Amino acid sequence: MKINLLGVQVDNLDMAGALEKIAGFITAQKPHQVVTLNPEMLFYAQKKPALRKIINQAHLVTADGVGILWAARMAGTSLPARITGIDLVWRLVQIAADEGWRIFFLGALPGIAEEAAAQLQKHYPNLKVAGTFHGYFQPMEEPGVITKIRQAQPDILFTALGAPKQEVFIARHLRALNVPVCIGVGGSFDVIAGRVKRVPPWMQKIHLEWLGRLLQEPKRWPRALVLPRFMWLVIKTYRLA
Ligand code: UDP
Repeated sequence: MKINLLGVQVDNLDMAGALEKIAGFITAQKPHQVVTLNPEMLFYAQKKPALRKIINQAHLVTADGVGILWAARMAGTSLPARITGIDLVWRLVQIAADEGWRIFFLGALPGIAEEAAAQLQKHYPNLKVAGTFHGYFQPMEEPGVITKIRQAQPDILFTALGAPKQEVFIARHLRALNVPVCIGVGGSFDVIAGRVKRVPPWMQKIHLEWLGRLLQEPKRWPRALVLPRFMWLVIKTYRLA
């Protein structure tokens, strides 16, 4: 079941439900797009109908961020859990190692995707890596990147190009890529490769991961300015209308 938040459909699923749905995509062997939706993307989707369309056409949209859960409550409904890109990566590689699913890692600076894949293989030695490629290719190189991924025939494509670039890339090439599960995972490779530290668990638990990320990466501040605007939009739409 989906719930509607500011015109964007979000799946009403917890982690177990999301994983089950993704396993179904792999069984079906048809291309599917998974979006981990954060407040920034939901905010931009208001102004960019093309982005809204991409999210609404995705086969699974999870609530990435406490702001999305809050917005659902303000809308008089609820979502069971936060499902972030990096949490999905960790859970999926664990299942992939058992099931033999092959994963392609696309994105981040040269060398990082390989490093992230190697770190994950340290934890799950049975994990099959279908391939890796960095995320700073030029538009003219794009067809070559698509061919490389298609020929590697992964079951899952983790795409770490940042939001919403990764969502646009996946939507545009979903058929050509022909990968059963394509997921945008933002900055996950940097964290897994140890280039950026994840916010400590206690901060995640009290829903302050967003603040921790801001303190660790001050370049995020301009982006964070969207958050009060997002909150105002939610209040205006669901409480003052
Ligand atoms: N990135 C990339 N290609 C680009 C722009 C960004 O591969 O053209 C990578 C960047 O190196 C980083 C990730 O995309 O690893 C974006 O991380 P961020 O934490 O900003 O993700 P978001 O919060 O936008 O999901």
